[in-house]
Amino acid sequence: MNVLVINAGSSSLKYQLFDMDNKAVLAKGLCERIGIDGRLTHTNPNKSEKYCENVPMKDHADAIRAVINILVDKEWGVIESMKEIDAVGHRVVHGGEYFADSVIIDDSVIKAIEDCIPLAPLHNTANLIGIDACKDVMGADIPQVAVFDTAFHQTMDPVDYIYSIPYDYYKKYKIRRYGFHGTSHKYVAQQASEMLGIPLEHLRVITCHLGNGSSVTAVKGGKSVDTSMGFTPLAGLPMGTRSGDIDPAIINFLCEHEGKSAEEILEVMNKESGVYGVSGVSSDFRDLDTAINEGNERAKLAKDIFINSVKKLIGSYIAEMGGVDAVVFTAGVGENDRSVRWDVCEHMEYLGIKVDPEKNKYRGRQMDISVDYARVRVLVIPTNEELVIAEDTKRLVEAAEDE
Ligand code: AMP
Repeated sequence: MNVLVINAGSSSLKYQLFDMDNKAVLAKGLCERIGIDGRLTHTNPNKSEKYCENVPMKDHADAIRAVINILVDKEWGVIESMKEIDAVGHRVVHGGEYFADSVIIDDSVIKAIEDCIPLAPLHNTANLIGIDACKDVMGADIPQVAVFDTAFHQTMDPVDYIYSIPYDYYKKYKIRRYGFHGTSHKYVAQQASEMLGIPLEHLRVITCHLGNGSSVTAVKGGKSVDTSMGFTPLAGLPMGTRSGDIDPAIINFLCEHEGKSAEEILEVMNKESGVYGVSGVSSDFRDLDTAINEGNERAKLAKDIFINSVKKLIGSYIAEMGGVDAVVFTAGVGENDRSVRWDVCEHMEYLGIKVDPEKNKYRGRQMDISVDYARVRVLVIPTNEELVIAEDTKRLVEAAEDE
């Protein structure tokens, strides 16, 4: 079965085509500047070069057409015709309380995703446009599956998802902790279970997804029991440009003193804060490291705040789960930045956590980096959200065919 995975943003669209018989990536790429002019970057793993051209894309349907055209292209393509795509899997950011698992898209699913638009206006709108565009271009008969960032965290108990504000706001507006990056947390927790040879039902894992956006999740018995992102992906850890948790009274204070609206201040919290805001250097940890090596104190402070925040979450989740068997690092920073992994785990020996500096030298590869005698295993596991989307799509489409 060939599955096309789509991750649609407001002006961009990422895609990967999988052959799910052997989980191979046949091709992948990115459409950018949709609605502006349009640019397509496409990788065929059998070629040493990338295809990178301006392709007019006035909307997402044009982008999907460009993707299909390049996938069937004589020179750059990997399939003969669109008919070789058996199903489409979409990343959808917010499933609210409707979805605790992925689902085959039908009219009722579309309606539920629409109902969640107030919870994630930019993301869900873009995801719906992507779904619609595929239906337009590929026809109504092609099965489409939605895989939600929030679904994995629907197992949390009210004690972890209800905010201590008037309960009516939860009842009226569904204001609660949802959590995000669920596809990634679920995937690396499963991989950890396989690596350690311990069934997921018996594992307590803390998964640290540290990238441009970052979140930490406590996974007990394969279920998310707590996670650091909240009502929106702005909560929890400081990130590339997002503030993470702050005292909510700061918003009002800044509105008054900066003469800005709450919306404008939220924009600052989303786009000008995090390690970028503190360092004034960059949201990218590689640039921070360069600045730190040149003696930039604020870059060091920014990174230290980030590291301290991860450390505090790990401590609180160990307390919440009554112990931990493994800590997993994943995503751009978690997979690559050895100093983050080292500093986060430093001084945790009394909890059974001890990283081996030799093993920690590697980056981007799946491995156990703890010292042999450590009670808690520290693992680096590259995430693969696209593969999870493709797997869920295959699982649901095959199950529907069997019915
Ligand atoms: P992601 O959001 O998972 O794609 O992660 C992107 C982030 O990972 C970048 O903004 C960098 O901060 C970080 N990153 C990627 N490669 C490295 C590296 N070699 N060393 C340190 N950080 C890295």
